[in-house]
Amino acid sequence: MEKIQQAARIIASSSDVLVFSGAGVSAESGIPTFRGEGGLWERYPTNIYANLPGLAGVFLLSKDRIASFFSDALRPLVEAKPNPAHEALARLEEAGKISAIVTQNIDDLHLAAGSREVLEVHGSAYRVRCSRCGAREGRSRKDINDVLDKLDVPTISRRQMISALNEFSGNCLCGGRYRPDVVFFGESLPMETIEEAADRASRCDCLLSVGTSVLVYPAATVPAIAASFGASVIDINPCETTLSSTADVFVKMKAGKAMPAIADEVLRLSN
Ligand code: NAD
Repeated sequence: MEKIQQAARIIASSSDVLVFSGAGVSAESGIPTFRGEGGLWERYPTNIYANLPGLAGVFLLSKDRIASFFSDALRPLVEAKPNPAHEALARLEEAGKISAIVTQNIDDLHLAAGSREVLEVHGSAYRVRCSRCGAREGRSRKDINDVLDKLDVPTISRRQMISALNEFSGNCLCGGRYRPDVVFFGESLPMETIEEAADRASRCDCLLSVGTSVLVYPAATVPAIAASFGASVIDINPCETTLSSTADVFVKMKAGKAMPAIADEVLRLSN
């Protein structure tokens, strides 16, 4: 409990706390992490499935394989609900104790928990983006479930599959085609979002890293920028990360247990 109290004291005495979150914060919502056991990428190699040309190739070779990939990647996301870690972070924002969350996640669970200042540096599964003009449009859990239900029918033809996917993504008013608004491997991060994240990192006086290995670049520069500008660093993770040894406090616990305890203590200290 000493580590929880240390982390809470730093957060309570800081004026600008920036959160940096990753797949681990959603693990207890049932979404496997990127590197963890049973993760998606054990079954679907990233060099093929984590980029659009690779996915197009799989589609041509095996429509069943692409349907099972979409189902395995997206069903856990649409079925997930915010867990106590997301809720604790939302409570801290509501109380004015954290200024924003920079998340690498695409699952929208911070927003679903009630957090408002969320910078999604890897995009969102719940948006599409025009490949021509960059306009964005939202897609609901129901939209995703509906397209997955269509793709899951074993007798579906390739033509029907393309039409279901086209219907889901749709066309932009400019005439361009929409694509998923997620950052695939090798693609650039959304410039405005990552610039804002870097700017906030340079101004914050505490960086709270939750559930991330801090290995995926360029997003992982966010905590490095904060530390280089003198921010205190708190790392919450059941395993060591690239931040743990230099962090001011390393809370070696799952986020769903650590974050509610930290939030309770911060709010107690602030009252
Ligand atoms: P990662 O898989 O590299 O690391 C996950 C980290 O979470 C690990 O350090 C692990 O020890 C930790 N972890 C596991 N369970 C935890 C728990 N209950 N509480 C706290 N920490 C826990 O993931 P990453 O660092 O986010 O980078 C991988 C990339 O893949 C990122 O872009 C990430 O957003 C993306 N991704 C996103 C989702 C999602 O949207 N939920 C899921 C998988 C991968």
